[in-house]
Amino acid sequence: MKKWYKKLHWQIIIGLVLGLIWGLFSSVAGLNEFTSEYIRPFGDIFVTLLKLIAIPLVLASLVVGISNLNDMSKLSRMGGKTIGIYMITTTLAIVIGLTVVNVMQPGKTLPLETRTSLMESYTQDVGDRGEAAQEVLDRGNLQFIVDIVPENFFEAASDNGNMLQVVFVAILLGLGIVNIPLQKGEPLINVFDSLNEVIIKIVDLIMKTAPYGVFALMAVVIVDLAGDDLGQALNLLSALGWYCLAVVIGLFLHVLIVYSSLFKVFSKMKLRDFFKAIQPAVLLGFSTSSSAATLPVTMERVEKNLGVEEEVSSFVLPVGATINMDGTSLYQAVAAVFIAQALGMDLSIAQQLTIVITATLASIGAAGVPGAGIIMLVIVLQAIQVPVEGIALILGVDRILDMIRTAVNITGDAAVSVAVAHTEGKLGALHFDEEDEFPDDE
Ligand code: ASP
Repeated sequence: MKKWYKKLHWQIIIGLVLGLIWGLFSSVAGLNEFTSEYIRPFGDIFVTLLKLIAIPLVLASLVVGISNLNDMSKLSRMGGKTIGIYMITTTLAIVIGLTVVNVMQPGKTLPLETRTSLMESYTQDVGDRGEAAQEVLDRGNLQFIVDIVPENFFEAASDNGNMLQVVFVAILLGLGIVNIPLQKGEPLINVFDSLNEVIIKIVDLIMKTAPYGVFALMAVVIVDLAGDDLGQALNLLSALGWYCLAVVIGLFLHVLIVYSSLFKVFSKMKLRDFFKAIQPAVLLGFSTSSSAATLPVTMERVEKNLGVEEEVSSFVLPVGATINMDGTSLYQAVAAVFIAQALGMDLSIAQQLTIVITATLASIGAAGVPGAGIIMLVIVLQAIQVPVEGIALILGVDRILDMIRTAVNITGDAAVSVAVAHTEGKLGALHFDEEDEFPDDE
């Protein structure tokens, strides 16, 4: 039996807590420059490594998955089911968010003084984010469908590309392979198959550095938040406490109600076992604030530990990392109402219904990267005619909420993959023996 502190998930938690402590210490002791200069790069390297591996992983595993599908109707059935469940969970998330924020009314507790100083200190940021948001608003309504088809594969797979485009190319490639004689297609399938194995091994290796990466990421979050004036940062945090609490309660209820109901209907999995199996992925989602960067680990956990066959996970998870963001949509609903309340506006039922529709679209459109949700929030605010500048109120605490909502986004993707796998007869047994260690840990 391994000692507890040698297990990866404990090491990640220890890294997280130590990072937090270091961040606070560094703010108090005036070591923020040191932290930025010498600790930040390690967090950056860790996230970059994960991103580096994500695109080849999606490509290889999806091509292998599709070329193993001997039945085309199966692909379209699985696709319909996946998107259908994703939409339902997202809508439920928004309804839960709206209910919590209407009951708690956090916006009405915000002190005017804090509001004004926040507004001033973040005007610059809003300007920057406002540009990105304006681009989003200028697009046509169906542009997001057009955007799925890339002009150039390498561009799609590049830094500016998007995961859905890579998914699209991988599906095309897979379809091409299954539609030629097996003899001809097999060598290519073997190449992708072996590439897939190699990438999974690389993910194992990268994960060994996760505790250090997470330490650095957490330290930097605290330093960025606190700056040199810890007192001011704590002040802001407590002033916005109710708003954060509303988001967190909403997310908690969503996980508890929606995902456990999903398991009741579609599989007999217990929520506790589910979390035990995917824990490192959730922790990584929390510390990186990026569904896309966490994807390799989510895939590994879902396949190895939850028993979802690759045929399902290789499709459901990359699509989910891009379009399924229950945490983000719930947060957007709470944030929109909170800003309206804080600015003294009462929203009508029609406006709240508009939030349901626009937050669904905005969460689909949000990329799986840090801070995407708050940019897309502009769409929701515009639709209900709440001044977009109100975003300044919540920017200060957004990073923390981003971490929590990303963890929920990842949880949602994994939960839906279990449901889809179950209905397809592709759900194997849960596997805990080495749940938090990787083969080479021995
Ligand atoms: N950071 C989130 C994610 O990657 C998106 C968001 O900002 O809400 O899932």
